[in-house]
Amino acid sequence: MKVLKFGGTSVGSAGRMRDVARLIAGGRNIVVLSAMAGTTNSLVEISEYLYKKNPDGANEIINKLAVKYYEHVEALFCTAEYRQRGRELTAHYFDYMRTFTKDLFTLFEERVILAQGELISTGLMHLYLHEQGINAAMLPALDFMRTDKNAEPDPVYIKDRLMSLLKANEGADLFITQGYICRNAYGEVDNLQRGGSDYTASLIGAAVHAEEIQIWTDIDGMHNNDPRYVEGTRPVRHLHFEEAAELAYFGAKILHPTCILPAKLSNIPVRLLNTMQPEAAGTLISNATDEGRVKAIAAKDNITAIKIKSGRMLLATGFLRKVFETFENYQTPIDMVTTSEVGVSCTIDNRRRLDEIVDDLKKYGTVTVDDNMVIICVVGDMKWENLGFEAGIVNALKDIPVRMISYGGSNYNVSLLVRSEDKQRALRSLSDFLFNNK
Ligand code: ASP
Ligand code: MG
Repeated sequence: MKVLKFGGTSVGSAGRMRDVARLIAGGRNIVVLSAMAGTTNSLVEISEYLYKKNPDGANEIINKLAVKYYEHVEALFCTAEYRQRGRELTAHYFDYMRTFTKDLFTLFEERVILAQGELISTGLMHLYLHEQGINAAMLPALDFMRTDKNAEPDPVYIKDRLMSLLKANEGADLFITQGYICRNAYGEVDNLQRGGSDYTASLIGAAVHAEEIQIWTDIDGMHNNDPRYVEGTRPVRHLHFEEAAELAYFGAKILHPTCILPAKLSNIPVRLLNTMQPEAAGTLISNATDEGRVKAIAAKDNITAIKIKSGRMLLATGFLRKVFETFENYQTPIDMVTTSEVGVSCTIDNRRRLDEIVDDLKKYGTVTVDDNMVIICVVGDMKWENLGFEAGIVNALKDIPVRMISYGGSNYNVSLLVRSEDKQRALRSLSDFLFNNK
């Protein structure tokens, strides 16, 4: 059994939904769907109006969204009977959403609103598959996907419930479920954070010991550089889980970083595939390493670098702890760190508490802040025994000012910090040197 996940654009129009139906029809697999493209953003907007006690604003967005879904229903179904059922299903969800415009609105109601996108997209797909004569069984995510008191997925519960749901649907041709949504430890409707459908697929894959987890999008796998900035990028055919995790975190939008861990721990390969070109090979992510190969480059924008210099760091114990604790006190995660005997540089991508952090850090030394920076991340098999890759990277950037270089944190990555105006030049030059032998 495989787990196949389709994102918002893959179910974003009637035509695309039909393509997905064709793709999934052949196998007895579990299919995870996101909300149709743009829907979750609209649901966030609806919630914002309701928090601000503006039911008219919320109703306007609800009505606009409803029109889109009714059009979608007309275009999707072939028979009058199913078109009618599609309309009824749509009406059911939108009527329910409208009930939230009348009462108290809290975090609890917001999560229920946010869950509606995946419920509608899977509901419509389920109906369409039945219209096509495919006996698809719905596995309601709210009946098996659950997080614990630390907001972490509860794998034992998920596995137990999923197994009994699969058993109860033994005669089904295939299974369909919602990405992203879940219940929390208190039984309330909750979610796995924005972009969390990839995580759902991975958690399900681990729970059922799937032979493979497929993430279907509309690009032919992970590219070796960012196609928006560099010409002639190519899909990477194979990545190690840790290479994929670095790339997902440092900019490659195609895969959510949380998706990697459950698959890696259960040793289930993840394949990134393209709904527009289903026969293309895509990218396979597994526990295998390609010896000595540099694989890909990604960039993460809007980075701030903070340097703390202290004459007293020399031989001082506890200096780094105090610095890191300061970031922790303001719940600001650090991405990159480099140290020297007299100072330390850290980067953050969330500037919300920056002023307070800088203020506190002044207790320990002289603080400098550099804004508008970009982390360039090069991934591949970069074990320290391997020769030459550091030289290649540094050489590629010989004309670009580099603020920080970080290597040795993992066997799979070198990170460099440059100014955002140098980003494109850095990405291109690295591609030329590392992939195009220029
Ligand atoms: N629909 C959710 C979102 O837009 C989850 C997902 O697409 O993965 O964030
Ligand atoms: Mg996504």
